[in-house]
Amino acid sequence: MIVLPPSEVPTLRAALLTWFDARGRELPWRQGVEGRRDPYRVWIAEILLQQTQVVRGRVYYDRFLTAFPDVHALAAAPEAAVLKAWEGCGYYARARNLRRAAQLVAAQGFPETYVGWLALPGVGPYTAAAIASLAYGGARAVNDGNVRRVLARLYGEAVPTEPWVQARADALLDPVRPGAWNEAVMDLGATVCTPRSPRCGACPLALWCAARASGQPDAFPAPKVRAAVQDVQAVAVLIGDEKDAVLEERAGTLLGGLMGLPTDALADGGDAVAVLTRLCARLQARPGPLLGQVTHTMTHRRVTLYVYRAHSAAERTSVAQAALSRLDQKALALGRARQDSLFAEEVE
Ligand code: SF4
Repeated sequence: MIVLPPSEVPTLRAALLTWFDARGRELPWRQGVEGRRDPYRVWIAEILLQQTQVVRGRVYYDRFLTAFPDVHALAAAPEAAVLKAWEGCGYYARARNLRRAAQLVAAQGFPETYVGWLALPGVGPYTAAAIASLAYGGARAVNDGNVRRVLARLYGEAVPTEPWVQARADALLDPVRPGAWNEAVMDLGATVCTPRSPRCGACPLALWCAARASGQPDAFPAPKVRAAVQDVQAVAVLIGDEKDAVLEERAGTLLGGLMGLPTDALADGGDAVAVLTRLCARLQARPGPLLGQVTHTMTHRRVTLYVYRAHSAAERTSVAQAALSRLDQKALALGRARQDSLFAEEVE
């Protein structure tokens, strides 16, 4: 690990900000005067990008802003409509918190400080620092995966703790352009100092970088020990088709509030047909054949859904109007693929 001399910090800041002014990414949520951007747009973008890649985030951002162009529209919207506009983004607690926070903001006005933002539902230290610096010019350093990686490499720290990263980020933050500085570090991490193939030859921090000097820049930071992924299995039934199907509201923190195919848990090594029989008895439906299985990973869970056809006269819901998880979209696609193949067999 190196100690960056304080006398070098102004030159280092100038180098990164010059690079950012020339090479920073142009993104839809970056419109507006530096340090005085529209807080609503910054907020939506920061929440959206927490678990979503920028390329997909652009599409979702446009869709969400079209549905809810300002905080009053979001505050007045039913939860189902917000979840529908969030469809595909995952981590739906974010959408529910956005709506709850929008109701507070619509009543009280936008907070203008880091602490004020931190008090809103769903807003953590990263988001509060980003909004405070980008929309209000507040001197708050962000700390996310990109920042952690860039700083770990710059200082040659293999195991950077959260307090260590925050202390370094705070010390380096440009006091005149804090928002631009935060975005510059994030952009450097996303486009130059990438996890596997850092492009040190194109990096404005190369002169000061300990990881580069070590000859193994991608060895910093050391890989984190990942939490084990838990396998979860369930049986689902498709009653109807990919346009109109029997749907139920899901409960729980992961997919709570979303609609989905009726399901029942399947124990490890359990009998799927027995679960199907139980599920169909609850729905007063007649079980049909297995359509196939779909798998989807969410946070630390890998869910495998065994999707069966079933028949009943129960009321169906328009799939286009319902907010569905990607797991259920995959299951519905399975039903469609099965129908297509049956159609092809009939034609032959
Ligand atoms: S010199 Fe290389 S390792 Fe160091 S910050 Fe730049 S890209 Fe990352």
